Amino acid sequence: MTSEAQRLNAFPVFMRVKGRAVIVVGGGTAAFAKARLLSQSSARLTIVAPSLDPDFAAWLAGGDAAWISGTYSAARLDGAALVFAATGEEAMDRQIVRDARARRIPVNAVDRPELCDFFTPALVNRAPLVVAVGTEGAAPVLAQMVRARIEQLLSPSLGRLAALAAGFRGAAERRLPPGAPRRRFWQSFFAGAPAVAVEAGDAAAAHRAAARLLSGQSSPRTPPGIGHVALVGAGPGAEDLLTMRAHRLLGEADAIVYDALVPEAVVALGRREAERYPVGKRKGCHSKSQAEINTLLVRLGRAGGRVVRLKSGDPLVFGRAGEELQALRDAGVSHEVVPGVTAAFAAAADLSLPLTLRGVASSMVFTTGHDLDGGTLPDWTKLAVSGATVAIYMGRSVAAGVASRLIEAGLSPETACAVVENASLPSRRRFHGTLEDLPSLAARNDLTGPVMTIIGDAVAGADFELSEPLAAHRQVIAEGVGA
Ligand code: SAH
Repeated sequence: MTSEAQRLNAFPVFMRVKGRAVIVVGGGTAAFAKARLLSQSSARLTIVAPSLDPDFAAWLAGGDAAWISGTYSAARLDGAALVFAATGEEAMDRQIVRDARARRIPVNAVDRPELCDFFTPALVNRAPLVVAVGTEGAAPVLAQMVRARIEQLLSPSLGRLAALAAGFRGAAERRLPPGAPRRRFWQSFFAGAPAVAVEAGDAAAAHRAAARLLSGQSSPRTPPGIGHVALVGAGPGAEDLLTMRAHRLLGEADAIVYDALVPEAVVALGRREAERYPVGKRKGCHSKSQAEINTLLVRLGRAGGRVVRLKSGDPLVFGRAGEELQALRDAGVSHEVVPGVTAAFAAAADLSLPLTLRGVASSMVFTTGHDLDGGTLPDWTKLAVSGATVAIYMGRSVAAGVASRLIEAGLSPETACAVVENASLPSRRRFHGTLEDLPSLAARNDLTGPVMTIIGDAVAGADFELSEPLAAHRQVIAEGVGA
């Protein structure tokens, strides 16, 4: 039994409003908010107000609702399915509530729960699928927070999936006996090939997959060739720097393939039942070769289901994504890329460092600094000399070479540099100095995490209050050695 404390005083139902009149009385902010919410429905929305706030009027010009500009009178409510009293004046709202009730029309008075026949929920709209969140008017802000969390969990494509399901409902009822067989069909429909194809944006394939499923021609979860591989940016380390899309795909994944640099906390956001494949790729650790990773992705993609290939930062920045995408293309496996926050951006954020700076730096170079060994200097050094901000990935061991060759290319030894280890993580360390200080990086064995180096005049605009001088550290080491 439900205990008294758990009983709902307002019971949620979904009311048919298509083509029916819904009336909002009021022209201010509160009325506008209700009108926007109601415009998500196919009701005939009518606003009754002598005048409207300018932004409300501008919105109405878009044609989502009709405006009756006269003063309010009870007769305006005749025939409405729902009424909202949102005039902002208590006496007026009370009058509207009385008038609506006299006509047996359910009424809501904004911000006056005691006058409401019903409450409006916070909505996650994936029409025809909808999630309505309510608190019986007790805590609307809480409802909004819960809504935001659910919003993250649900793919924008779920509405299309529900609509596809509506199209197959009659056939499923004709062909499958009620109970377990029908339920199994729908489970496979929503978790298997049709869902994967809808998510990938391929309506025709989704329809074919659903038809195959209904005719019993395909096994529920692993139809060949229907898999989908997403190359997903895991961001620089902090799990809340993940995109909402990455978060959702992780939650839906059947398999997760990830590099050593991807933090455990991010992998842990994956669906619990997902198979996990760590593929290493960290200096000195045993790891799969790129060819083995390509083969694994193709195999998992072909086996069906949803594969998430998690890469640190952005998948398209020094992530060998090109090779993985080529392998998927060659194998005809459906795929997509989900961007992530790249390490250079996270490091810059940690120092409030403007990567472009008006009048100082108007371009940016992403490089590894591993191309500086040859006899001729790569072109990006010229960009550095002309004021570009340079972000160096995997640059710790080559720090000395980078510094000397940039100076050779014409950059002043006084050019500002910033270094961030473990950007975005609580364990991050920040350093600042000049090109001359940079070589000390290579010798430092206290830096065990990934390191991002940013060089250029714009770096001087950073906030160095939280960072240690590179040069000072060098002195400490020197003293330590001398002692
Ligand atoms: N695709 C990744 C880069 C992979 S290359 C991205 O877009 O960020 C690996 C290099 O990225 C590391 O050697 C280091 O230079 C940098 N890096 C990755 N994570 C970092 C972090 N949290 N802090 C500093 N540098 C990082």
